[in-house]
Amino acid sequence: MAGIVVRPRSRILHGHDWVYASEILKVFGEPKDGDVVSLKDPKDRLLGSAIYNSRSQIVARRFSRQRQPLEADFFGRRLAQAIAYRRETLKLDSKALRLVWSESDGLPGIIVDSYGDVLVLQTLTLAMDRAKTLIVEALVSLLAPRSIVERNDGTGRLAEGLEEVTGVLHGALPGEIEVEIAGLQFRIDPLAGQKTGFYLDQVASYSAVARHAAGRRVLDCFSNSGPFALACAKAGAAQVVAVDSSESAIAAGRRNEARNGLVDRVEWRVANVFDYLSGEEKRGTQWDLIVLDPPSFTKSKGGADGAMRGYKDLHVRALSMLRTGGRLATFTCSHHVGDAAFREMLGEATLDAKRAVRIVETYRQSPDHPVLLWMPETEYLRGYLLEVMPGR
Ligand code: SAH
Repeated sequence: MAGIVVRPRSRILHGHDWVYASEILKVFGEPKDGDVVSLKDPKDRLLGSAIYNSRSQIVARRFSRQRQPLEADFFGRRLAQAIAYRRETLKLDSKALRLVWSESDGLPGIIVDSYGDVLVLQTLTLAMDRAKTLIVEALVSLLAPRSIVERNDGTGRLAEGLEEVTGVLHGALPGEIEVEIAGLQFRIDPLAGQKTGFYLDQVASYSAVARHAAGRRVLDCFSNSGPFALACAKAGAAQVVAVDSSESAIAAGRRNEARNGLVDRVEWRVANVFDYLSGEEKRGTQWDLIVLDPPSFTKSKGGADGAMRGYKDLHVRALSMLRTGGRLATFTCSHHVGDAAFREMLGEATLDAKRAVRIVETYRQSPDHPVLLWMPETEYLRGYLLEVMPGR
């Protein structure tokens, strides 16, 4: 089998599963992009099997510590393990769930989201994209879904030389699906919504934040189809405003509001959050609870400085508009923004806003997005609930 010998001190020798181009000592046996290769250390010891793509910055992604071809048995086993982890270890019984999350489930590039009996597949690496038929067959035999669709329209595929494609892989065109998330009904179109239909990584945070909403004036920034806003309205918020720049997301939010019998409880605004906040600040509006769940402002390490300035500006505004005792639920979803950097930015924002805050709660990505101890990239979503302290 063709393979790669890695340089001393490569991250894969320290537990990580990726090999970057700069970490390659030697490529032997002329592997082709999309092949399975053997990984060896400089002393010729086997490190495992990996998928290979010379076009990507990450040339090899290890998926097994043994010799292992990508065959039907392998997919059946790994997918069953991923499903068992959610059901048995985490005891998750939600119908909306990330069933498979790439490296964190030993399947680099494969993402499977389940919305009841409809599965949404993404194959973001060349080797896994080629194995799509095997993956679909394994999912059908394990879960007997009504439909499997592919949402292979993320920009991530471009780095692997893959085209963007969406469509049905198994069963009939699913149409819209109704699922319950955080005690609310949402209608999801798996072929049209942002991401695969829903931000499943935030599911655990909706109810947690909504526990602080009763009787309060709540502003949900970057609301998308409104899960934070609606959870807060349902929990008895006195007033809720939801702001998102996407017209279709806000339209979906209005429909979700009606579906949950929350008539006229949320004021929906199609607006740029930065403009909205500065307008409200000038008017002297005050809030009791503000949610900031912005998109990842940076996809690269180099962009992190610019992202931090953007985040900080947002936080200064939000903190200034909170009344004493008010709370800010704030999230970052870029693994390039580590916990220390996020907290430092929050600290600077409180200084500029002249507010003293304490940390009431911390949030993480939902547990169906598992974190690998040796792979910091898998831990990407962090959040804090801050309270503006009285008398300071
Ligand atoms: N809180 C949402 C997810 C937010 S994702 C949920 O849990 O479902 C980020 C959202 O920010 C997207 O819906 C996107 O449309 C919106 N967005 C991006 N830039 C924006 C801006 N400058 N102003 C307002 N909304 C923006």
